[in-house]
Amino acid sequence: MWIEALDLMLQKLSKSLDLSKVTAVSGSGQQHGSVYWKKGSATILSSLDPKKPLVDQLGDAFSTKESPVWMDSSTTAQCREIEKAVGGALELSKLTGSRGYERFTGPQIRKLFQTQPGVYDDTERISVVSSFMASLLIGAYACIDETDAAGMNLMDIRQRVWSKIVLEATAPSLEEKLGKLAPAHAVAGCIAPYFVERFHFNKNCLVVQWSGDNPNSLAGLTLSTSGDLAISLGTSDTVFGITDDPEPRLEGHVFPNPVDTKGYMIMLVYKNASLTREDVRNRCAEKSWDVFNKYLQQTPPLNGGKMGFYYKEHEILPPLPVGFHRYILENFEGETLDGVNEVEVKEFDPPSEVRALVEGQFLSMRGHAERFGLPSPPRRIIATGGASANQTILSCLASIYGCDIYTVQRPDSASLGAALRAAHGYLCSKKGSFVPISNMYKDKLEKTSLSCKLAVTAGDQQLVSKYAVMMKKRLEIENRLVEKLGRR
Ligand code: ADP
Repeated sequence: MWIEALDLMLQKLSKSLDLSKVTAVSGSGQQHGSVYWKKGSATILSSLDPKKPLVDQLGDAFSTKESPVWMDSSTTAQCREIEKAVGGALELSKLTGSRGYERFTGPQIRKLFQTQPGVYDDTERISVVSSFMASLLIGAYACIDETDAAGMNLMDIRQRVWSKIVLEATAPSLEEKLGKLAPAHAVAGCIAPYFVERFHFNKNCLVVQWSGDNPNSLAGLTLSTSGDLAISLGTSDTVFGITDDPEPRLEGHVFPNPVDTKGYMIMLVYKNASLTREDVRNRCAEKSWDVFNKYLQQTPPLNGGKMGFYYKEHEILPPLPVGFHRYILENFEGETLDGVNEVEVKEFDPPSEVRALVEGQFLSMRGHAERFGLPSPPRRIIATGGASANQTILSCLASIYGCDIYTVQRPDSASLGAALRAAHGYLCSKKGSFVPISNMYKDKLEKTSLSCKLAVTAGDQQLVSKYAVMMKKRLEIENRLVEKLGRR
C-alpha cells in the first residue's frame, strides 16, 4: 500500500510540477511502524525497471507483508522483558528516552522474533516507515535517522548509537539488520535512476533522511525556543517542547531534536483526544461543535469542582484502561486542598460533562508537562491539529496554562517540516557542516506561511493559580487510579 501510494503520488505531482527542478526531497513517516526486507532484496531495490510500477517489482521483497504500526498494543510482555533485562523501566527510559511502549519498534521486533522466528531469520534489513520510504527513493537501504530511532526503544539517546544492552535484550543479530544511524539532516543518497527516468527528477536531486511525523511536526512548527510549547489537538493529542538537558522519566518521551545536533525534543502523547471529544460531543451536545462550545461558555471555569477522566481507548498517559471516572470536589474554592473531599459520581449534566472533559484533558497535559520539567507557564503555546480551529477550546487552554495561544497558518506541520528539513539537509550538505535551521528563516518568518498568529491572550492569573490547585488534586486522584487499575 505504501509503495503503491508513493508511485501514485509522484504520478500526480509530475503532472503539475516539473520534478527536474527539485533539489532535495525528504519526508515524514508515521512513527514506530516497521518493515521487514527479505534476504536478497537489496539487489531488487537497486535494479528497479522504470517502465514498471514499483508495486509490481517489490512484491517479493519482504519477509512479511504485515507491518505493525503505532496502533498495535499487543507487545506488553515484550516491553516488560526488555525493561527487566536492562534493570527496569526507568533504566530503559534513561537509556533510550522512553520506558518500554507497546507501539515502539523494539518490542514489536522482539515479538516477531519470538512468534515468527523463520520470518526474523529471513530478514536482512529492518526499516521504520520513514527510512523505508527513503530506501525506495535512493534504491538502497537508507539509514534510520537518530530522531525516529528514539521511537524504537533501541537507541542510546545520549550517544546516539544503538544500545548494545538493549539490542541483546530484544533479538539476536539485530544490529546488522538495523544498519547504521544518521542524523536527520544527513543526505541518505541521490535519487535512484528509477525516479529520474520515470518522473524526470534531476539525477543530482538529494534525498535527505526522512524522519517520523512527530519530529517533522516540531520542525514545521519552527519550535526553537525552550520556553515554547506546541500542543497538537488531533487524533491523538501531543505536547512538544525542547530542552538541552532532558531527564527521561517513566512517562513521556525524549527524542534527539531533528533539526539540532545537540538538543532534545520532549513529547507527551495522549490517545484519548479528538475522538473522545467527539464522543462526548455526540452523547451530550447534539453532535454539534456549536452546542459543545455553547456548553463550554455556559459553565464556569473550574466547573464547580466537577472533574472527569475519560478513557474511551486504553490511555498511554496515564497508563489507564478504558473507563470513565467522575468526581465532585466538595468545598473546592480553588485556594487550598485543605478540607476538600472528592466524591465519585456516575454522571454529570451535559454542559458539565463537556467542561469536565476539556478541563480534564488540559489539566492532565499541564500536570504531566510540569512534572517533566517543561516550562510553566510556557512563554507561549503554539496550538495545531484539527481542534485548534476551535476558539472556545483554545480559550480554555489559555485559562488553564496562563499564557498566550498562537495558531499556525498551515495545519500540515509534519509535511511542511519534512520539506523544511529537505532544504536544511541540502544547505548542510552544500556547506559541508551543520547549519542551524533557523538561519533559513531568521527575521523572515513573518513573511512566510511559517508564521504564527495570536489566537487567544493569556487568561486571568488568579484563575491560573486556582487551576494549579485543581491540577494537584487531579494528579492525586490519577495516581490512585493508576495504583488500582493501571499498568505497572
Ligand atoms: P490527525 O491527527 O489525524 O491529523 P487532525 O489534526 O486533522 O487529525 O484533527 C482531526 C480532528 O479534529 C477530528 O477528529 C475532529 O474531532 C477535530 N475537529 C475538527 N474541527 C473541530 C472543531 N471545530 N472543534 C473541535 N474539534 C474539531
